[in-house]
Amino acid sequence: MPIFFYIYPKKMKLVFATNNKHKLAELQAILGNHFQLLSLTDIGCNEEIPEEQPTLEGNARQKALYVFEKYNIPCFADDTGLEIEALNGAPGVYSARYAGENKNSDANMDKVLAEMTKIKNRNARFRTVISYISDGNEKQFEGVVKGKILTEKRGNSGFGYDPIFQPDGFDLTFAEMKLEDKNKISHRGRAVAKLVAYLQSL
Ligand code: IMP
Repeated sequence: MPIFFYIYPKKMKLVFATNNKHKLAELQAILGNHFQLLSLTDIGCNEEIPEEQPTLEGNARQKALYVFEKYNIPCFADDTGLEIEALNGAPGVYSARYAGENKNSDANMDKVLAEMTKIKNRNARFRTVISYISDGNEKQFEGVVKGKILTEKRGNSGFGYDPIFQPDGFDLTFAEMKLEDKNKISHRGRAVAKLVAYLQSL
């Protein structure tokens, strides 16, 4: 009787340029056994990675390139912003620090609500850009979810601007949705799905 040897391909090592445990666990679960996801801490990168570009695309690329050039491991990085039509795309790339350097979500939302008190056009979108860089290969993936900015905060789940953002086609804000429901339609979920499809095609 023939003996079959199953040769398992070596897991591909991949750095996700973040130390956010939630994002890492979510991605590792989606990527499964073929990829070994490493955090910045895992590769000994403890310094602050520069994030000085005026666009989400620029920042995502700057972070991924920094890690790839220094550690020579395939890497991807993400950057997200809330883009409000009537505010010409603000807070956009400055979403985390819109109301100040301490990155306070309540203060950020209060600032947006104050700026929009007299504004009828409530259209907005969340946009995530993921930049992937490996040897001789560079790709970007975008995920977008459109919705409306409410006039007051609703809900306690999620983070960031979730309580004032209601995705189109839903009566709930992101902060009122279950995480798994948010992930199915979210900017990040959509960008990640494109990245995963690409990685699985390698
Ligand atoms: P980051 O690029 O994922 O760090 O996101 C930058 C900023 O965008 C965060 O600090 C939040 O203020 C905001 N943000 C990103 N993703 C979300 C989200 O899913 N819901 C609400 N706010 C978000």
